[in-house]
Amino acid sequence: MSIVGHLINGSLSEAAERTQDVFNPATGEATKQVALASKETVEEAIAAAQAAYPAWRNTPPAKRAKIMFRFKQLLEDNAEQICAMIGEEHGKISHDAMGELTRGIENVEYACYAPELLKGEHSRNVGPNIDSWSEMQPLGVVAGITPFNFPAMVPLWMYPLAIVCGNTFVLKPSERDPSSTLFVAQLLQEAGLPDGVMNVVNGDKIAVDTLLTDSRVQAVSFVGSTPIAEYVYATASAHGKRCQALGGAKNHAIIMPDADMDNAVAAMTGAAFGSSGERCMALSVAVCVGDEAADSLIEKMTEAMQGLKVGDYTDASNDFGPVITEAHKNKVNGYINSAEEQGATIVVDGRNPQVAGFENGFFVGGTLIDNVKPGMKCYDEEIFGPVLLVVRAETMDEAMQLINDHEYGNGTCIFTRDGEAARYFSDNILVGMVGINVPLPVPVSYHSFGGWKRSLFGNLSAYGPDGVRFYTNRKTITQRWPSSGVREGVQFSFPS
Ligand code: NAD
Repeated sequence: MSIVGHLINGSLSEAAERTQDVFNPATGEATKQVALASKETVEEAIAAAQAAYPAWRNTPPAKRAKIMFRFKQLLEDNAEQICAMIGEEHGKISHDAMGELTRGIENVEYACYAPELLKGEHSRNVGPNIDSWSEMQPLGVVAGITPFNFPAMVPLWMYPLAIVCGNTFVLKPSERDPSSTLFVAQLLQEAGLPDGVMNVVNGDKIAVDTLLTDSRVQAVSFVGSTPIAEYVYATASAHGKRCQALGGAKNHAIIMPDADMDNAVAAMTGAAFGSSGERCMALSVAVCVGDEAADSLIEKMTEAMQGLKVGDYTDASNDFGPVITEAHKNKVNGYINSAEEQGATIVVDGRNPQVAGFENGFFVGGTLIDNVKPGMKCYDEEIFGPVLLVVRAETMDEAMQLINDHEYGNGTCIFTRDGEAARYFSDNILVGMVGINVPLPVPVSYHSFGGWKRSLFGNLSAYGPDGVRFYTNRKTITQRWPSSGVREGVQFSFPS
């Protein structure tokens, strides 16, 4: 079996003291192994990034950006191969993988603006013959730690921007689907990046802990589940690092009585079940205002779900594929069991679907559960599977209170025809990314991505303008040349 290794100082390495199986989740078979880096291997990658930093820091931003232009082209030229790699290890259907990659490429396009993004600010004559300006300087070696569910896109949220800002990078991808992430990083190397600027170490907690505690790493970007995000944020901060740690989600949609129900059902079907619900922006809870809206949603959604096609990534007519591992399949089924035990109503049951030819795959079919209430395990926790919960509320305020009381605050959406209600909702909801009749309000690359509450630890969101702020240190310089005629004696009062 081939081993997915590391990219350190421009070369592939298979240093594999330990390995772990990588599965094709549609067949249930182990197809590869991934190297799990030791502390020493991670330290080697950090040392390579540290050595590459001084020259890269002083490379003009326009030259850094030129490499990103070539990288974008290589990503487009190799898109099908990347999507096939994603499909084989994640299980994502080809059209969905292409959507992920396209959104990732948009972040590379944003990074191509580096000279514009790093221009800084300048003020002439802040005092007599005194000028002042602010520069955005790189931090040094920065690290990224990423989840399994977007193996191409989420890393691309991080390192193109970090690198064009003048930093060098060590990425620790998910060990569950590492191939596409490594291949994409190799394309950046092929685009002309100097050795050591971009490094990838595959691994597990040992690799993560090394990145979080090594004094040479200046900042850490993390995306994954909330318990690990909280641990990463606390540990990185305790070691003096800047950290942004994006966590899990429980995204609610409010269905108002006046909503265009056919449109809402179509939007929710894709947003709840697409990618098997393994998206941090998946809409997993529909809060219907009034029983009439709830009954109509259940009826139309049940009908829409009859047509859902679950299967292997190679068949583009499938709507979604398997979940990532057997353990995760059992966990999702466990949430459905618990809903039943705690008094909710299973309307469409996706436990153990039959997928011809893929009997050992990790499949869960689309599942619809009615009469869900706070306090039920399926409501309180993130399921991360193709399961849509329906909660019934009497008023819009009651529906909004549910969202505001939930520990997560990543994404949300309201389906309505009433502009006043939509404005009230977006103004008062305690969630970072809000859709109005838009089910997956993922910000474009020139805005920034981030949830509220326990969906993000840290002050700056991912990518876009916040990404530039995260990957740079502001330095403000105030300058006077005494030879210009203004000389002052000793002053003991604060300059004003
Ligand atoms: P995960 O938290 O299990 O893993 C994320 C990363 O952390 C991986 O690289 C993994 O190797 C590492 N890790 C896992 N356990 C660790 C430990 N004990 N100590 C140190 N490192 C550890 O997440 P996942 O299952 O890969 O991804 C799914 C989760 O990510 C979901 O909760 C989803 O909502 C979340 N997610 C959030 C966003 C967002 O933008 N907020 C985006 C994508 C995914």
